[in-house]
Amino acid sequence: MKNVRPIRIRALIASGIALAIGCVYPVVFIRWIVPLYATCVAAMAAAAFLLFHALFAAKGNQKPLVPALLGAAGYTAVLMAVTPLVNNAIFGAVAPWGSVLVNTALDLCFWLVMLRRIRKATGEPLRAAPLICALLVLAGLPVSLITAAPNVKATGFIILDNDENYRERIDSIDIYENTLDTAVPQTQVYDRVTAHLKAPLPEGKTKKKVLVLGWDGCRADAMAMRDHREAVDALLADGGKAYIAYCGGANYPAPITQETATVEGWTTMFTGMWGDGHGVTGFDDVRATKVRSFLTTAVEDGLIDSSAFCFSWDGHLTTYADEIAYDKANGVNAAWLFTEGEEGGEGDEGTFEKAMAELRDPNGADLLFTVFEYCDYYGHCFGFWNDAPEYAEAFRRSNETGAALIDAVKARPTYGEEDWLILITSDHGGHIRSHGGDTLMERMMFIVTNKEG
Ligand SMILES: [Zn+2]
Repeated sequence: MKNVRPIRIRALIASGIALAIGCVYPVVFIRWIVPLYATCVAAMAAAAFLLFHALFAAKGNQKPLVPALLGAAGYTAVLMAVTPLVNNAIFGAVAPWGSVLVNTALDLCFWLVMLRRIRKATGEPLRAAPLICALLVLAGLPVSLITAAPNVKATGFIILDNDENYRERIDSIDIYENTLDTAVPQTQVYDRVTAHLKAPLPEGKTKKKVLVLGWDGCRADAMAMRDHREAVDALLADGGKAYIAYCGGANYPAPITQETATVEGWTTMFTGMWGDGHGVTGFDDVRATKVRSFLTTAVEDGLIDSSAFCFSWDGHLTTYADEIAYDKANGVNAAWLFTEGEEGGEGDEGTFEKAMAELRDPNGADLLFTVFEYCDYYGHCFGFWNDAPEYAEAFRRSNETGAALIDAVKARPTYGEEDWLILITSDHGGHIRSHGGDTLMERMMFIVTNKEG
């Protein structure tokens, strides 16, 4: 008769690990706490290793270490690969809760099969402890659900965010000059900037200047967060106006002609064209466009002396690779100021510092375009919704940095002689934890301007 005691102990330890994972995994995944998520995956692999080790030992294998390691590695790889596939098929790509449920179900199946096989191999029933622990894993799930409750609304398990209540929220915002039905096209960013640069200088002014604050992934209904609207309110207080705008190539309810995504959005604003003009239309379609942006053309046409683009998303380096090389080769005074670093973190800090340096420099760029990733980054992590505290904080930070840059414009010694157009805008909205589709939440954005004409 085999000595089943060590086998039982391994199964018990594995059960304990699984219980711990069952308790924390859902909340860790949904709130996307990366170090804890990595720990969970490692613990999951360790528990699988113990089960495989117990199984091979029970089968009489004298050296179960290597096959157990291979078994655990294989199981973890399959689990990581299969979970998103099943999640996509059942719940759709943007359902983190679906991922948690699928993962838990697969893990539990694996668990029960392994215990059954170990029981069979040892020839005698294992004590009930491992099974009880496995059941406790299921009990851990509700604990995690409750812990994650504040985020449930924002992550789409209960989808409270839909086109209908989006309309209501937009209607409750008092700063917009227009409605969802009369939204203006995103191409207006290009039109407004070029019209400003081409218009004659007002009396007493000697130089045309432009600052664009781009807030990646900021939804139009974020403006309902009045307490966080510092930068927007600063422009409105100067006599500015706010408009609801749309991306995606056509206004609702017409079908979108380009994905409501980053490359498409900013390229449309840079060129004044939709995808049929600049050639970038697919989701995350990060590829070079042959069409030059106003960062280059406005300098070449002599409308301004210099331009600068401050950003931290490296996809822009690909999209404008041709143009960056062209500017360099032809001595066009357009600076492409990329900061490497976490989006929403040091990447955005770098964007802020570089933009600030341009504004403090008397000879800084005449057309300064910035893209901050706060809203997009935290939207993808925690949900694009005002009720997600992280998204609200991202909006607040966008406004805080924006207001500091607007103050820096006004603090320029030459401010009195300069004719400034300041715009705040966004490339797309978002829904649950993603964007690219045709819901109102994804396709509406906004243009706030400090002045007309
Ligand atoms: Zn974006």
